[in-house]
Amino acid sequence: MEYVFAPPAPPSLPVEGMTARFPLRRILCVGRNYAEHAREMGHDPDREPPFFFAKPADALVQHGAVIPYPPMTADLHHEAELVVAIGTGGAHIAAGDALAHVFGYAAGNDLTRRDLQAEAKAARRPWDMAKGFDASAVIGTLRPGATPPEGRIRCKVQGEPRQEAALSEMIWPVAGVIAHLSRLIVLAPGDVIMTGTPAGVGPIRQGETCVVEIDGLAPAAVTLR
Ligand code: MN
Repeated sequence: MEYVFAPPAPPSLPVEGMTARFPLRRILCVGRNYAEHAREMGHDPDREPPFFFAKPADALVQHGAVIPYPPMTADLHHEAELVVAIGTGGAHIAAGDALAHVFGYAAGNDLTRRDLQAEAKAARRPWDMAKGFDASAVIGTLRPGATPPEGRIRCKVQGEPRQEAALSEMIWPVAGVIAHLSRLIVLAPGDVIMTGTPAGVGPIRQGETCVVEIDGLAPAAVTLR
């Protein structure tokens, strides 16, 4: 194939114990998946089913990266999330079969321009520029294996605890997320799903380092310069 200019290499993630990398196709995200976070954002978790949004694949930020504070915001927030990497695609995947489609798991940070998101919500406009901006998806090294991690998810800014929850608090566990999403779109190898954040979201300021930790997985850290 000849192109009018050289296409960029696909964004990719490192994989524990392998030299080969995971080629990233799409970044899908769950909107609300922990009851306490839904409440802190002013919603009733018992009445609202999960919904999805997306970030472009080239919004990926590698663990340990130093990135510029994003433009057009004064309220950049961290959202610590479990990331599921899809290894086998499919549509209308049953929850009971869903984990067989998983390549592995990573820690992630769904960086959010909270002020732009609040404006978008108020005006009933899309969230793309609040969620899918450049360098908005921090994802750590993938741990291969279909079994979801158990234990806790944490977020620290400058070493200070900001978010902490048990992964078992997810309203929709990994299999349910995959089942729901695969009814809306055909999942494909290389897709990753950021599965929602627990309560305690808050700002990261210029010069600060934010680390997301999940028991059993490599951390996902980012520094804002
Ligand atoms: Mn999120």
